[in-house]
Amino acid sequence: MQAASVKTAIWRGERLFVVEDIPAQVCAHCMEQFYDEAAAEALRRLTEEGFASVEPLRVMQVPVYSLAPLIPPPREIPEDELYADY
Ligand SMILES: [Zn+2]
Repeated sequence: MQAASVKTAIWRGERLFVVEDIPAQVCAHCMEQFYDEAAAEALRRLTEEGFASVEPLRVMQVPVYSLAPLIPPPREIPEDELYADY
């Protein structure tokens, strides 16, 4: 575990929010992030209220890609061929 300042991205419906400056402990092996109680609570509050109470630091523009033209058209996929999304 290593102390670090991390960021995270949170989807609320079709909207994406980025939160920076989160104090965290990061696992050196799998990079999983662990937040202390104050950080987890603040993040939970922000998310629950839909990010309404705090002004954003800035607004980012992010490129959005479609995988559709890069893969074969959808078909029935047998369950043992499914992969997790990360
Ligand atoms: Zn780990």
